[in-house]
Amino acid sequence: MGYDIERFVGYVNEGLLCCVCRDVLEDPLQAPCEHAFCSSCIHGWLVHHHNCPEDRQLLDITLLRPLFRYMRNDLSRLQIRCRNRDQGCEMVCSLESVDRHERECEYGLVACTNTGCPMQVERRTLEAHLSVCEFRSRECPNGCGYTILSCDDTQHSCVAELRTELELLRSEMICKVEEVRHEMESRLDSQRRHMVQKESLLKNEVEELKGQLSRVMSDVRALMGAERLHRQELEQAELEKRELLELLKSLQKEGRAPPTPPPHPVVPDGLRKAGSARSLALDCIKRKSREVTVI
Ligand SMILES: [Zn+2]
Ligand SMILES: [Zn+2]
Ligand SMILES: [Zn+2]
Ligand SMILES: [Zn+2]
Ligand SMILES: [Zn+2]
Repeated sequence: MGYDIERFVGYVNEGLLCCVCRDVLEDPLQAPCEHAFCSSCIHGWLVHHHNCPEDRQLLDITLLRPLFRYMRNDLSRLQIRCRNRDQGCEMVCSLESVDRHERECEYGLVACTNTGCPMQVERRTLEAHLSVCEFRSRECPNGCGYTILSCDDTQHSCVAELRTELELLRSEMICKVEEVRHEMESRLDSQRRHMVQKESLLKNEVEELKGQLSRVMSDVRALMGAERLHRQELEQAELEKRELLELLKSLQKEGRAPPTPPPHPVVPDGLRKAGSARSLALDCIKRKSREVTVI
């Protein structure tokens, strides 16, 4: 859509009007037949037609070209009134610079900057609106730390707000405590399992040690038995030695003493076999001496 011709100050050349909307060209394009159109107007037309709206010559989008430079210059020099004229803006400027003006025009409508406010006010009154806007917020003057929306101002109660916050914190706290409790319980459980395992391990070790102890005890008993036997043998040997000595003495008395036998060698402890061999020799000697006595 073009610019409303009513907004222009002074004469506007017919050639600068759009052949579709009949307003002053906006983003102009021209056909090979030199008819000119607003970009949006001709694109809309060509959706349903395939010709120039002015003279019906064949036309499609690929044939559209920018407007002649001299015409573009004429267009940009046209003097136009601000679109906020009805609101009170007296601004008249070149078509070239009207967009820049309107973006900053004090009479232009802008949305209130407070979140949730649906109001649109003129840029020049925005400040005033913000100071009374129902959606403005401020920190509670009583120091509860809350930001109060202006529309909730009368309902604001520090105690109620703080109570709500307290409730929130309390429920959060309960959640956290539950979490920690769960964690501790699972940790304790695993420790308990670990201890049970260790206990059974230790029990096995104790059993093993008991077994070893009983084996050692039976060994000790066996050794003690052997020791006792050995002692008996020693006593026996001592007895035999005495007998032999007496025999020797009696033989010497008869004056036919054989050469004195060497004293009995001391048998080292534990040599039982040697001991029995020795007692065999003793028996033999005794027997011979008896034979001698009989003779
Ligand atoms: Zn147009
Ligand atoms: Zn044409
Ligand atoms: Zn303006
Ligand atoms: Zn507002
Ligand atoms: Zn408060």
